[in-house]
Amino acid sequence: MRILVIEDEKCISEILKENLQKENYVVDIADEGMKGLLLACSNNYRLILLDYNLPGLSGKQICQEMRKQKINTPILMLTARSQFDDKIEMLNFGVDDYLAKPFLFAELLARVRALLRRPKEIESEIIKISDLVIETNSFKVKRHGKEIYLTSKEFLILIYLARNMDKIVSPETLMENVWDMNVNLFSKTVKTHIMNLRIKIDKNQRNKLIHTVKGEGYMLGLKRS
Ligand code: CA
Repeated sequence: MRILVIEDEKCISEILKENLQKENYVVDIADEGMKGLLLACSNNYRLILLDYNLPGLSGKQICQEMRKQKINTPILMLTARSQFDDKIEMLNFGVDDYLAKPFLFAELLARVRALLRRPKEIESEIIKISDLVIETNSFKVKRHGKEIYLTSKEFLILIYLARNMDKIVSPETLMENVWDMNVNLFSKTVKTHIMNLRIKIDKNQRNKLIHTVKGEGYMLGLKRS
């Protein structure tokens, strides 16, 4: 799940990125208003953490411009404590929620989860495909009841494929949803991770679950369609 952080204070954005990554979110950072707006309008984010005071464009301008362009990505605004006594004003310009600085990461995470809870795939916390069980909240994967240990990237790929079960997912789509923007697009990283995932999930199993569809991408499911 990909989140955009628009924040010019490096110490805050780096802590946010580090902690959100530990929760298995993919995080992009913009440290300036125009760059933030551009990223928000050109990528498919599930949530945006938006600072109010920014160089270039303010958080308010970014939010207004996004809503004008009918981009409805949920926005959690980060503000200095004294800036907004009036929550209604902020909701009126299109913010979904706000948090006053300084804040505890635990509180931010609770707000993030609440904002992400809306789409249906977040509600199902256990995904079962044949004898493969994925617990999305506790990051556990089991096959035949035996726990499989995955890296966080492998876990994110597996969840993405599982949520698109029986559909072909292209490497580009995986890149867009599972990697942040610093990825080297010319590396063989998707292929390598799929290979490792396949060893962990399918090796010595009669029913293979991860399939390569030549020239198109990858699919998770019981049979190739
Ligand atoms: Ca700022």
